[in-house]
Amino acid sequence: MDEDFSSRPGPSAVSRHPPAVSPPPSALSTQHSALRTQYSAEGVPYLQLAGLAELPGLVHGISTRAGGVSEGPYAALNVSLMVGDERARVLENRARLARALGAPPEQVYTCRQVHGAAWRVVDAETTPADIEREPLDILLCSRPGSRLLLKFADCTPLLLWDPRRRWVAVAHAGWRGTAQRVATVAVQALVDSAGSEPADLWAGIGPAIGGCCYEVGDEVIAAVAATLPAPAAAVRPGRGTRRHLDLAEANRQQLVAAGLAPERVLSARCCTACHSDTFFSHRVQGLPAGRFAVVAGVR
Ligand SMILES: [Zn+2]
Repeated sequence: MDEDFSSRPGPSAVSRHPPAVSPPPSALSTQHSALRTQYSAEGVPYLQLAGLAELPGLVHGISTRAGGVSEGPYAALNVSLMVGDERARVLENRARLARALGAPPEQVYTCRQVHGAAWRVVDAETTPADIEREPLDILLCSRPGSRLLLKFADCTPLLLWDPRRRWVAVAHAGWRGTAQRVATVAVQALVDSAGSEPADLWAGIGPAIGGCCYEVGDEVIAAVAATLPAPAAAVRPGRGTRRHLDLAEANRQQLVAAGLAPERVLSARCCTACHSDTFFSHRVQGLPAGRFAVVAGVR
């Protein structure tokens, strides 16, 4: 199944699935002070990290399950064309999210996420069709108006912003990506592409499965721990001899080790499995499940 973001859904596709905005994720923002809820002109809710929302020049948003047109396990705002949902519905969902973040759908760029650490710059010559099938887990951009979109259902979303050079990056950090130091690679990609100084950068760590819920095998703990200055802080006891991994903490450590100021690394501290009513969660839903989006760009 292809991921063609450049073709917009036709009028018939839209009228077949009239807007049905779900209840807003209001309970979440009262529980999680790091997240604030915004609404598009169409009434589509999206979340922002409070500390990043004030930064001029940066546009960002985290979608929820609400405000889209998908049904069943994809209800309602699934953004992935790769999980079995109807294409017209996914394109309508993406279009609503794009408009919420001030861009036409044809200015939204996504890629085929493969749990790696490969990166690419989206520039004036790049079209969405160029990269939609490319195996990438980091996207970078400095072009005002373009929007980078990655898809999640428990993996850790990372967002980087260089306010001096006005470059943005997004990254997809599940355990495999974290073990490959995808956060570190994303920082280095900004250094190489934009001349960024790591100490200038702001980082956002979005909603992801938390240390409360993410039970993993010892081999997963070992692979991620090998990349961390303080691995014990990213591991929690679980049932019996099992252990839980805190991927947000692991990525926070990698970002600080890469030279970011600790006070500029902001975390949602919000578990997608605990809040599977608000976010798609692979662990809770199993297969099939939709994907929510983290979108970022330069204003
Ligand atoms: Zn949890």
